Amino acid sequence: MRYSQYFVPTVKETPSDAEVISHQLMLRAGMIRKLAAGIYNYLPLGLRSIRKVEAIVREEMNRAGAIEILMPSVQPAELWQESKRWEKYGKELLRFKDRKDAEFCLGPTHEEVVTDIVRREVKSYRQMPLNLYQIQNKFRDEIRPRFGLMRGREFIMKDAYSFDVDSSAADSSYEKMYQAYRRIFKRCGLNFRAVEADTGSIGGAFSHEFMVLADSGEDAIVSCSDCEYAANVEKAEARPVALEHAEPRPLERVETPHKRSVEEVTAFLGIPASSLIKTLLVVADGEPLAVLVRGDHELNEIKLAKIIGTETLEMASEEIVEKVTGAPVGFAGPVGLKVRIVADLATQGMKNFVTGANGRDLHYKNVNFDRDFTPSLFADVRNVVHGDPCPRCSAGHLELWRGIEVGHVFKLGTNYSEKLHATYLDADGKEQSIFMGCYGIGIGRTVAACIEQNHDADGIVFPIPIAPFHCIVSAVNSKDASVMAAAEGLYQTLTAAGVEVLFDDRDERPGSKFKDADLIGIPLRLVVGSKNLANGKVELKIRKGGEVTLLSLDEAVENVK
Ligand code: ATP
Ligand code: MG
Ligand code: MG
Ligand code: MG
Repeated sequence: MRYSQYFVPTVKETPSDAEVISHQLMLRAGMIRKLAAGIYNYLPLGLRSIRKVEAIVREEMNRAGAIEILMPSVQPAELWQESKRWEKYGKELLRFKDRKDAEFCLGPTHEEVVTDIVRREVKSYRQMPLNLYQIQNKFRDEIRPRFGLMRGREFIMKDAYSFDVDSSAADSSYEKMYQAYRRIFKRCGLNFRAVEADTGSIGGAFSHEFMVLADSGEDAIVSCSDCEYAANVEKAEARPVALEHAEPRPLERVETPHKRSVEEVTAFLGIPASSLIKTLLVVADGEPLAVLVRGDHELNEIKLAKIIGTETLEMASEEIVEKVTGAPVGFAGPVGLKVRIVADLATQGMKNFVTGANGRDLHYKNVNFDRDFTPSLFADVRNVVHGDPCPRCSAGHLELWRGIEVGHVFKLGTNYSEKLHATYLDADGKEQSIFMGCYGIGIGRTVAACIEQNHDADGIVFPIPIAPFHCIVSAVNSKDASVMAAAEGLYQTLTAAGVEVLFDDRDERPGSKFKDADLIGIPLRLVVGSKNLANGKVELKIRKGGEVTLLSLDEAVENVK
């Protein structure tokens, strides 16, 4: 591809509305452009990376025995009423009516449609196992679309659905997908963990999420330092702690008069008031330990000494926590989580402290660890913290990470097949429900997650498998005919050898060509300039690490091929 005839609208300035680095870089590198909130155009470079991920996904799906189909985006309401999700799915489901007033939705996922195909066509146990997949646009009316392709409203997903005769056959279909996912994300060059996960609104028996490790991730996960155990904190198990003094709790609910205005505290923190959400107040023996930030209109604030927990999974709140404590905080959780964190403090010798009582202006006084709070008293709470003992092995402790969910596998069981009457006849001619599994990968999110893990101050540092091109040939003195001829030769030879080459033949200053090349992150760069060429040499620069070698034209071809 000749750069001069291509379409790569790069931008120098960091776009102000892009919060995470992948979003910033994808905009700056001219990979994507926003059309509406959470809805993006894929420009040529972005599309090429997307297609690379799709190709890897296709290969591994096919290799695992899944069969590609394509289902419509527009789905009739009747199917969703049958599965009972028309009511349940809520506002993320974009609904509309046709000219005859019939109701439809834009598919956020395709369990209903694929189950409808299978219930019509699959009648016998002989037709299974069956695994159908597609790569297609989904629509979810996300409450807060953000971070570019990471959380869009329209986005490309690979979704696969397995159909089996019984639970153990379904387990082996699940295992095949699980292994395929491991291969996919490995081939994409990603540092990831497969973690035990909640089954959420899709519902089902068990599931794993594939999490790309990145500080900007919206999920918190734990993994054991010693064994294979890894889980989303939403799902993580705590090892029960024995209660030695399990007495009734003589807790006193008190009013807390320590109020500061939102403005006072946000000014102190140097953050916008809008980014504050509720956190926790803890005082030990009258000594302030932590701030409780934000009721609806005012703040209960004692001293900005140490924040311990927050109530929601907001990124912003964690930034605040880190800002105040100066220590990384692995996660935030719902109300009950506070208790666990307080308990954690208590193990460090805290007695008779005050904690939030989950009501406006209310706190508990004289709280004591062991007697009042332990993880086992709050079994339904997300109650693991960094350093906790592993619930599965005796040696390890839990490490906390932030992760980006790029893939999700579910064992569904007969949830959908029962509601939609997807049955088959077994070997004895008896009617049975089909066992299902479903398996998603966010294609665009995978590209974005890859950039979160692979970038530097100059731009993207693509791993070869996802890079839009393998190699960029930069002709630095484009007025010099011998330079242009040598560069053209490299371009032709490498292209003929199957290398995907972007030939920067533009009449631009070398500096701006190099800046663009760094920004768009092509893994290999061949620089053809008058001076080196006079000695028969060109420069090969590896984008990752910046290593430079001088090579003859022939050596350059051999090295890049
Ligand atoms: P999240 O927890 O991030 O909202 P999800 O659990 O709702 O994701 P799934 O229903 O499991 O998503 O969908 C399968 C995959 O589709 C996810 O693992 C993710 O990679 C991708 N995905 C989901 N929602 C989005 C979105 N809004 N934008 C881009 N990709 C998405
Ligand atoms: Mg979601
Ligand atoms: Mg999720
Ligand atoms: Mg999910």
